[in-house]
Amino acid sequence: MISRRKRLCIALILMTVLITACSRIKDKTKYEETQIKMGTAMTIKAYGENGEQAVSDAFKRIDEIERLTSLNISTSEVTSINNAAGKRYVKVSPEVFELIKESMELSKMSQGAFDITIGPLVKLWNFGTKDARVPSSEEIKEKLSLVGYEKIKINEKESSVMLEKPGMMIDLGGIAKGHAADQVVDILVNYGIKSSIINLGGSNVFVLGEKNKQELWTIGIQHPRKVQGDGFLALVKESDKAVATSGDYERYFMVDGKRYHHIIDPKTGYPADNGIMSDSLVLDSTLVKNSSMIGDALSTAVLILGPDKGLRLIESLDGVEGLIATSDYKLLISSGMDEKIESISEDFEYDAQRR
Ligand code: ADP
Ligand code: MG
Repeated sequence: MISRRKRLCIALILMTVLITACSRIKDKTKYEETQIKMGTAMTIKAYGENGEQAVSDAFKRIDEIERLTSLNISTSEVTSINNAAGKRYVKVSPEVFELIKESMELSKMSQGAFDITIGPLVKLWNFGTKDARVPSSEEIKEKLSLVGYEKIKINEKESSVMLEKPGMMIDLGGIAKGHAADQVVDILVNYGIKSSIINLGGSNVFVLGEKNKQELWTIGIQHPRKVQGDGFLALVKESDKAVATSGDYERYFMVDGKRYHHIIDPKTGYPADNGIMSDSLVLDSTLVKNSSMIGDALSTAVLILGPDKGLRLIESLDGVEGLIATSDYKLLISSGMDEKIESISEDFEYDAQRR
């Protein structure tokens, strides 16, 4: 039993968290709300009528997605699949089934760089927790044998999924927020919202329509070595685009001057170290279906592939543009992106040679 005092304490802590976690701004033409979801601060700003209802429904939908996909929720479908690894198929919702299938396609597209079976390695490194540490090479080798999207078995008819080996783990952390952003956009559009900016933790932004008749949305791409919100790598002007960013600065720790961050190269088991600090992909939602989800996964993949292969992947895809901040402070920009860029940080040198 929890004592009354303890209960009161817990209630007070929860209240403080809720008060700081949620904020609402309402006026006749604009509704804006921020909530902590999927471990990050998410803000949705919608212009026009029905904004409040649309945003409220959008947050409910994000909750649903989190309940299905989170590794921290013992009843999530992803947790069930992981618990049954090496033992049995688990029947899942059409939504999770599709997400897993799409993830496998994105693995193929990215030469295995994006791989949702990275779970055992993410857990081993423990980024973002107090237990984060550099594992031994033996530990890494052992976990690497549990990674590989080709070891995911799926049964279309039964809508069920099984991981081939015990100890395997699916981690949708590199794609779930993008999927959530696509779902939010659908909800807002169904409510008739024509102008909105959706920011799911900075790494997944979607700009719907234009800010107003005279103006496109301006998106500030985070500078990979400046405090969040305090310095931009570039400002881009866009409408109807998904902008997905992956960086080595999101969750990381330093040991002996070396940075260890949360995006793991499935080939080595170590954080990607191929010359990119961050990359942002800009996807045209009128050309690419599920643009935020695809962008989320591919931005993670580009960070692993490195500048040259990454840029080649971006250039090979219709409706996908991007910019890459390399470790030697060069900024690579894909061919369709130049005219969209307002300004770039003076810390970076624009490098047109590489593409
Ligand atoms: P963020 O979560 O900061 O938006 P990303 O979209 O780049 O950043 O996703 C990083 C997350 O993806 C990690 O925290 C981890 O859960 C997962 N992940 C790490 N490495 C890979 C990988 N190679 N393939 C797929 N997912 C990965
Ligand atoms: Mg991602």
